[in-house]
Amino acid sequence: MNFSEFNFNSDISKGVKIAGFREPSPIQEEAIPLILDGIDIVAQAHTGTGKTAAFGLPILEKIANSEVEKALIITPTRELASQVSDELYYLGRFAGIRTLAVYGGVGYGRQIALINKGVQIVVATPGRLRDLYQKGKIDNFNPEIVVLDEADEMLDMGFLEPVKEIFEYIPQNRQTLLFSATMPEPIKDLAETLLYNPEYISVVSDEDSTTNNKIEQKYYVIEESQRDDAIVNLLESEDYDKALIFCRMKREVDRVAEHLKALGFNAEGLHGDIEQMDRDEIVKKFRRDKIEILIATDVAARGLDIKGVTHVFNYHIPFDPQSYVHRIGRTGRAGKDGKAITLVSVEEFKELKRIQKDVGAAMELAVLNVDGGEISDEDIESLKFKISSIDVVDGVEDIIEKLECKDRDEMLKKLLSYTINSERVGTSDSIGYDRDETDRLYKEYLSEQKATKRKKGRRN
Ligand code: AMP
Repeated sequence: MNFSEFNFNSDISKGVKIAGFREPSPIQEEAIPLILDGIDIVAQAHTGTGKTAAFGLPILEKIANSEVEKALIITPTRELASQVSDELYYLGRFAGIRTLAVYGGVGYGRQIALINKGVQIVVATPGRLRDLYQKGKIDNFNPEIVVLDEADEMLDMGFLEPVKEIFEYIPQNRQTLLFSATMPEPIKDLAETLLYNPEYISVVSDEDSTTNNKIEQKYYVIEESQRDDAIVNLLESEDYDKALIFCRMKREVDRVAEHLKALGFNAEGLHGDIEQMDRDEIVKKFRRDKIEILIATDVAARGLDIKGVTHVFNYHIPFDPQSYVHRIGRTGRAGKDGKAITLVSVEEFKELKRIQKDVGAAMELAVLNVDGGEISDEDIESLKFKISSIDVVDGVEDIIEKLECKDRDEMLKKLLSYTINSERVGTSDSIGYDRDETDRLYKEYLSEQKATKRKKGRRN
């Protein structure tokens, strides 16, 4: 199928052409005609399927033809709001269509002024938009088309209430489109209450399936204390252009980012506690290849469509199988190859197995040989970094005295040797245990767990 079959207005067609879209993606093929016909839709599609243009193009077309004056798109995160607003601006600019991203963490003034001046498309996060409506700042903004983008993420992030409240301010006479990667019950209920007689569309993309053979998936079984060294060694041995490293917590993002920067990697961290302006700047730089490594939490990286990510690293395995699918889908996009590398400790091995089973991930165990186990410059930098962040504990002076070591240099050498040796758990010249060792350690771990449970049982 060709885009010309949609008979778009010439300005919109020009935008599509300049964006380099040749053929509509499956979701576009299905959704665009329905949306043009004014039908409400519930579409199951992930990011990467072309879903933004699937709802965006018919909206732009209707605005360009003056069939519709205003549209609203609600997204779970600020980053996604910016991204969607940018893409729609880009596609609709020849028709002079103005878009605006509206989100919290920045001042109200500019957003209110632009909405009241009449931008046609507002892309907003739920919290800020609800605020604006409740405070009566935008009482003349009455969109005729409303899109709920990544509805399941909004549910996960606790945004269903603000979304429902927003709809109290929106005219009943509207077209409503709901996009979601998964369809849990609360989302189905939401669709039933907010949409009128919707058509259901489902598109399974490469990203939905971890059998996407364009993404090579490996995992390394390591000791907890080896995580930093493993990530450094892997970055050095992998031929990456752009890499995303996923952490579970904001604190961890900061720590890993600092560590990698201290070792001279071109890396930045991204999470919700970083100022909005800085976050935008970081994403922009990563997009434009000015930053090579982005370390992020799941939430911060949600929905981000960044071209050219060759590697995804899971510094920690994600909490649930769907996040694994979301994470690795950041690479191997648009027909390109990608690599997804996961670090797991023996304690996390169960979670890894669950992911393999639940999403059928074809992950292979890997072992990385590192140069001869010698102490490298990176080891020293890494040690310097770790030492610099350690507080001197009370009582250390006492211990030094009690050790009665006359030669402090000698003692320092011994202490350093002790530290280095204890850091190099497992074989010092490799990262990751092989299959036999992994199986042995996992069995040992399981029997320890059983023994602990039994002990607890007896005590109760
Ligand atoms: P999305 O699923 O909306 O996040 O889109 C993923 C990426 O695909 C974005 O970079 C879009 O610009 C791009 N894209 C969307 N539709 C098409 C198309 N028909 N042909 C080529 N690229 C597309």
